[in-house]
Amino acid sequence: MTSFDEQNTVVEDTQNIKCPSCGGNTEYDPETLGLKCPFCGHEMPIEATFDHHVELDFNEAGNNLQHLWNEEKRVFSCGNCGAESVLDAHVVADFCSFCGSSHITVTDQDAGIQPGLLIPFQVSNEQAQAKFKEWIKGHFFAPNTLKKTYRLNKISGAYLPYWTYDSQTSSQYVVRVGNYYYVTETRTVYEDGKARQVTEQVRKIRWHQESGNYREFFDDILIKASHTVEPKLLQKVQPFQLTSLTDYKVEYMSGFLAERYSVSLQQGFSEAKDIMTRGIVNGIERSVAGDIVEVASLSTDYKDITYKHILLPIWISSFHFKEKIYQFIVNGQTGKVSGNYPLSVMKITSLVISILIVIFIVYLFIDS
Ligand SMILES: [Zn+2]
Ligand SMILES: [Zn+2]
Repeated sequence: MTSFDEQNTVVEDTQNIKCPSCGGNTEYDPETLGLKCPFCGHEMPIEATFDHHVELDFNEAGNNLQHLWNEEKRVFSCGNCGAESVLDAHVVADFCSFCGSSHITVTDQDAGIQPGLLIPFQVSNEQAQAKFKEWIKGHFFAPNTLKKTYRLNKISGAYLPYWTYDSQTSSQYVVRVGNYYYVTETRTVYEDGKARQVTEQVRKIRWHQESGNYREFFDDILIKASHTVEPKLLQKVQPFQLTSLTDYKVEYMSGFLAERYSVSLQQGFSEAKDIMTRGIVNGIERSVAGDIVEVASLSTDYKDITYKHILLPIWISSFHFKEKIYQFIVNGQTGKVSGNYPLSVMKITSLVISILIVIFIVYLFIDS
């Protein structure tokens, strides 16, 4: 049996989480944080668990196939923006949630490493749409016609992929240390053709080198593993409250999709190393006594490296206005909105003219 849901995606009958009262496929409901049947409204709670001991051994990741996404998933690839979406195997996507394109095909790519933790959606589809409408009304510079005539594309709930890394670091370092000292110097100055002796304290720096060992433990360095959402937009809807991370459960994906990570576990770790290196350099500069401390060389050993694959929730969509597409996103946890929008030439011009008039009036007053 095959049916069409309201998003017009084909939903095939599978062993998915069935509604006990009508047999329909249930979906995760952000308002109750449980499962809800879209057909009869039957609700079922999800038992959220917070087992934060899901750190996995980074060096074993290549061999450890048991951490691959073992539930039945399908990966769709977008021919337009390149996003890879992970959906339950029974869901067929007919458009790309990230750019709205219909050039989307099933790939034989596996879904990759299974997420260990996620922040479940707390903002519902209706709430996200209401937030968006409110946001667009609040944009003074957007053309008035936009507020009435934009066409909202489908809005999708997507979990964005992130990595977090822990590591115990141990660094051998060499630092240049500079200490200030003062000398009294006398020099001759000429004033009105007369020579005069001036005595003053001049600051000098005495340099020496030191070497040592520095240890620091880094916990949960967060690295974005996706490039589909403009960094500028994502930045504006942050932060996510990471204390709400709960154990990944298949139920939270029901009716939602996850983006497959495009930054590999290894690439993510090299980004994390850059962040840790900055932390280590700061730590050394603070711990060595001296007026100026500069790290001259550094060699770091990363031990006990563990990682987690986590998912963070966003509602993502776009709207059409005068044949252009503008992307917008809503934080699925906090409801914060950001997006691109057209600017009204008329409104900006009239603002500039009014500012010029004010400047002109002020100028007249000052002048008189
Ligand atoms: Zn039902
Ligand atoms: Zn796309």
